[in-house]
Amino acid sequence: MDQVKTSVPVVPKDYKSKIKPVWCPGCGDFAVLSAITKALAHLQLPRESVALISGIGCSSRIAAYTSVYGFHGVHGRALALAAGLKAARTDLTVLVAGGDGDGLSIGGNHFIHACRRNMNMTYIIMDNEVYGMTKGQASPTTAPDWLDSKLTPHGTGLRPFQPAAMALTAGASFIARGFTGNPNGLAKILVEAIEHRGFSFVQALSPCPTFRPEQMDWKHQVREFEEGPTDDLATASQRIHADDGMSTGVIFKTNYPVFQPGRAEHGDLDAIEREFRL
Ligand code: SF4
Ligand code: MG
Repeated sequence: MDQVKTSVPVVPKDYKSKIKPVWCPGCGDFAVLSAITKALAHLQLPRESVALISGIGCSSRIAAYTSVYGFHGVHGRALALAAGLKAARTDLTVLVAGGDGDGLSIGGNHFIHACRRNMNMTYIIMDNEVYGMTKGQASPTTAPDWLDSKLTPHGTGLRPFQPAAMALTAGASFIARGFTGNPNGLAKILVEAIEHRGFSFVQALSPCPTFRPEQMDWKHQVREFEEGPTDDLATASQRIHADDGMSTGVIFKTNYPVFQPGRAEHGDLDAIEREFRL
């Protein structure tokens, strides 16, 4: 369904709730909140037409900080909740947000299948390569030689996930990377992601100054991809793997069939059940 525009112009702050974020000073997640509200205001989406679903973790608190519909779910299950919501309410613009631990560890399998299913929603992983809420353990995107966690004092010794590569392989139809040091650039990516028809994955590099203070240097390392998005799998794969994970922009964009239990908007629960069994 086409996105319905608001009849009364709204500005970014209209999409913020009255709840004050409890994030640490300097946390990159502030900029993700700002980018989301800017993107929604740019699209002039009525607040009641948007739902933001999150999991558990510092970044997943974001659902409470917006004035759109929200659901602060359980650890790693945000995408499953969002898929259910989108199946039943095709009219909603569904955003999903959470951290790298939530989305790639306990929620990793949901991530893979959400990419493959290609429902029309936008998933933002706020990636700081650490579990922040539980006091700084290595996550699936942590480099193997990070030594500052008491749980892995010698480093993990494990190769980190590359979220963009996973999304590409699993079948996401829109893949981008943004940086919280450039909230306007991130907002622009989010506008494109929301407007894209299909599963849009946005990795937001979002520093954690409390447990990964060295990430404050990311602002000197981040750059834009030299080329714009491609719809060629091999080209996108080559770009992702040749990169050090610090290039930003829309990487891949194509039109895959969108999975949508199509009769859901008519309340045809039999159709939903039938299609989900396929
Ligand atoms: Fe942000 Fe890290 Fe603080 Fe969590 S612990 S709020 S991720 S700075
Ligand atoms: Mg994290």
